Amino acid sequence: MKKAIISGISGQDGAYLARLLVQQGYQVTGLVRGSQGEGLWRLKYLGIAEQVQLTECDLTDMSQIFRLIQEIQPDEVYHLAAQSSVSVSFSQPIATINYNTISTLNLLETIRLSHASLRFYQASSSEMFGAVQRLPIDEDTVINPQSPYAISKATGYWMTRNYREAYKLFATSGILFNHESALRQPNFVIKKIIRTALDIREGKADKLVLGNIDVRRDFGYAPAYVEAMWRIMQQDQPDDFLICSGFSSSIREIVEMVFVLLEVPLSALHTEQSLFRPAEIDENFGNPEKAKRVLNWSYSMNLEQLLRQLILDEYEVREFLKLHS
Ligand code: NAP
Repeated sequence: MKKAIISGISGQDGAYLARLLVQQGYQVTGLVRGSQGEGLWRLKYLGIAEQVQLTECDLTDMSQIFRLIQEIQPDEVYHLAAQSSVSVSFSQPIATINYNTISTLNLLETIRLSHASLRFYQASSSEMFGAVQRLPIDEDTVINPQSPYAISKATGYWMTRNYREAYKLFATSGILFNHESALRQPNFVIKKIIRTALDIREGKADKLVLGNIDVRRDFGYAPAYVEAMWRIMQQDQPDDFLICSGFSSSIREIVEMVFVLLEVPLSALHTEQSLFRPAEIDENFGNPEKAKRVLNWSYSMNLEQLLRQLILDEYEVREFLKLHS
């Protein structure tokens, strides 16, 4: 039986990836930062809370990682834990850069020093490309980060590449573009749009307030994207892959579509300058050609299919949380 460690198992991707690995017959150990476990409802919602082992581990303390790797002897380590919000990174730059970079470095150093024969996955982000000269972004696009979060992810990406090239570790990066689900943290934009639209529909809110709605991003569906993570780790050679839908949509388009689907009047949409980011990327979208060709990964949801799916999932999650709160 293969053994995997997932850091950040209480988050959106950690939960979906854990479900996938459990389905594949892995023994899964999830790392959590404390016993409070607020995000662990996601594992219950996906029906796998009893099938994964949870272990407290502070990834900023290398000795804890060292002991963990010795004890579990995993085949695969997926490093997903991170302060994952661009907006939060502007208000917490030091915490974001500290945690996101040191956790990755500690994992890579532990693997190198202990000669552990395992595969390592780094959750890299399209945000690291920042302000690009041309679209679509591909694996060769110049990195030009525009936020503390993006800088932390660019650093994690380069450290992973460096350990692969210098020490021949099986160290990979999935460079993922935005991917959404009803398990997203509530401060992320599509989740906020759908939740607030449902609240307006149910009379619990009267408006949706957003920042810059003209930015365009490449959005996909999280359960399909975690499958790409697993495929990256099954290759003969470690490498980096962009995982994306291949097209961009503006926040404005998304609000309009969600409001039409949920019959909410557009007059409920408000924008506020204070919610604009200090530095913004107008548009990004990637080219998933390498992932499709090499990983045999397929993704074909258009925006409307994605939003319809997210709305259905949101209803289901709401019901679950009502019953379990
Ligand atoms: P998420 O839902 O925010 O989950 C983040 C996970 O990291 C949670 O388990 C969280 O634990 C943990 N974490 C956060 N800050 C921590 C800290 N200071 N110390 C210890 N643990 C901490 O993120 P996600 O959407 O699943 O994303 C997974 C990974 O992919 C992240 O590294 C993210 O940056 C990256 N990524 C995501 C996207 C996307 O669109 N979702 C795109 C590209 C890359 P708690 O539950 O205890 O808070």
